[in-house]
Amino acid sequence: MSEVLRPPSPYRFLKLEGTYREIGEQLGRLGPPFRRPFWWPPPPDPALAAACRQWVARWHPGLLEEYAGYAAAQGLNLEVLWPQICRTSLRARRFGCSTVMWRGPGGALWVGRNYDFLLLQRGRDLIWLRPVGGLASVGMMGSLVGGRYDGVNEAGLFVSLHAVMAEETPPRPGIPFHLIPRILLDRCRSAEEALDLLLRMPHGLPLNLLIADPHRGYAVEIHPEGQAVREPEEGLLVVTNHYEHPALRRWHGARDPRPSMLRQEALERRIRTGAEPPRERLQEALSDHSAPVCGHRPGFATLWSAIANLTSRTLEYAFGPPCVAAFQPVPWPG
Ligand SMILES: [Zn+2]
Repeated sequence: MSEVLRPPSPYRFLKLEGTYREIGEQLGRLGPPFRRPFWWPPPPDPALAAACRQWVARWHPGLLEEYAGYAAAQGLNLEVLWPQICRTSLRARRFGCSTVMWRGPGGALWVGRNYDFLLLQRGRDLIWLRPVGGLASVGMMGSLVGGRYDGVNEAGLFVSLHAVMAEETPPRPGIPFHLIPRILLDRCRSAEEALDLLLRMPHGLPLNLLIADPHRGYAVEIHPEGQAVREPEEGLLVVTNHYEHPALRRWHGARDPRPSMLRQEALERRIRTGAEPPRERLQEALSDHSAPVCGHRPGFATLWSAIANLTSRTLEYAFGPPCVAAFQPVPWPG
């Protein structure tokens, strides 16, 4: 594996392997000391946190071993740590993530992804993971230790997560949102398997996921009260921060989905009308400043971007907005 990937601070590239317990210990030692970011809502009540933990124990017990290792290495008690990292509310004013899946000329399946959030989010770790008993993967971990916002695994499954501009319902037990992509990457060998798991998991928050493998992809729109699945139209599928499915749209409530819709339209337009080769067309589309897909607002911006060809198994990450940050080749997992 290449060791040349050196993202600029505060980004880090971490290579972790071993048992889940050992991976947690490595994460804990690599620090920094655990601190709740100020933008997180207060921890849920203990009974709710315990119920969420039970769901994680059922769907991916290795993650609890990883947290036990992390807590030990940080000198923390897992009983105290768990409610701190078990988020049952998102409570952000805006979201700006976008993903496009595209079957390009020649039939290769491509994905492009921008992750947007507060510049204050310093947790920006690209994790190369090889767990005993799970699939190897590469993906981005944010402030929430152990979670993933996007990534690919050794079987060629790509997953990305998008919060939805929807009203939250009263908190209920579910898999904490940041662990959903992680569970899919650790466990699933295809988009079909990931879809099956996603639709059976208990969910507590409004989320959109894009899951894709070299053969097919799905947009999965999730609300605690219902779920919908979209498939590509003429080889193109875009996911941002609103519900497309009519049955779920009422859950937007008073929140404004229009900026998210503009990003979706811009990505579709730029991919359909672009003339560049696939990789360059994806980079151009992710760098769009009309919607904008590529965010530069004060305090809130595109923090990273990814382009992958799932057919030829190539992956690149840009550690910053894709219009200026260079895309760097990332070793395929496994
Ligand atoms: Zn830009």
